[in-house]
Amino acid sequence: MTDRRQDAIAQAWEGVLATARRTAAEGLVVGTSGNVSARVGDVVLVTPSGVPYERLTPGDTVGVDLDGRQVIGRLAPTSELPLHLAVYRATTAAAVVHTHAVHATAVSTLVTEVPAVHYATALLGGPVRTAAYARYGTRELAGHMLDALRDRTGCLLRNHGTVTYGDSLDQAFERTAQLEWLCRLWLTASSVPGHRPSLLSPDQLRDVQDALEGYGQPG
Ligand SMILES: [Zn+2]
Repeated sequence: MTDRRQDAIAQAWEGVLATARRTAAEGLVVGTSGNVSARVGDVVLVTPSGVPYERLTPGDTVGVDLDGRQVIGRLAPTSELPLHLAVYRATTAAAVVHTHAVHATAVSTLVTEVPAVHYATALLGGPVRTAAYARYGTRELAGHMLDALRDRTGCLLRNHGTVTYGDSLDQAFERTAQLEWLCRLWLTASSVPGHRPSLLSPDQLRDVQDALEGYGQPG
């Protein structure tokens, strides 16, 4: 491995650890649930199974190829590896974040699509779908997730949690935070007795999408 490649991998691993710790610090995961990955060329760096994020060090780097064969490190990759690899094979993602964020997971038990209560839904490509249930860690779950991610950068996993991806770890993380916020907003609005939240129409969402593409910064 060249020095440059080694540097890129070391830097990406730092980013994976920082992002994983951020998911814990911001309450999006509890304990060792959830996982984070980043792609560097044909290597996917991914948090290991069952080790608290604060105990992970630069020397604990875990890397696999796109077929899931371990190419860096000794710690076993997360049991959700099939889910991460499926995203990298199907998209141009540079990073994937998976959490069990409480409001998003609650919503995953209630609806097949997160109601469009706010234009932030456009940041994820449109109304966020809930992937059909399958046991954690299975290829079946990864398949359901890909169906739900079509034209989206995030989805819910029924009775399980969230998946988002992005061009960077920060973007993937930000999308998870937005998705959790959106789910919390809908739960809050829909819990007022005798009222139902108003929703944005497909036309209104398209209008937001056009504005986002045209101007970049949401207001
Ligand atoms: Zn999970």
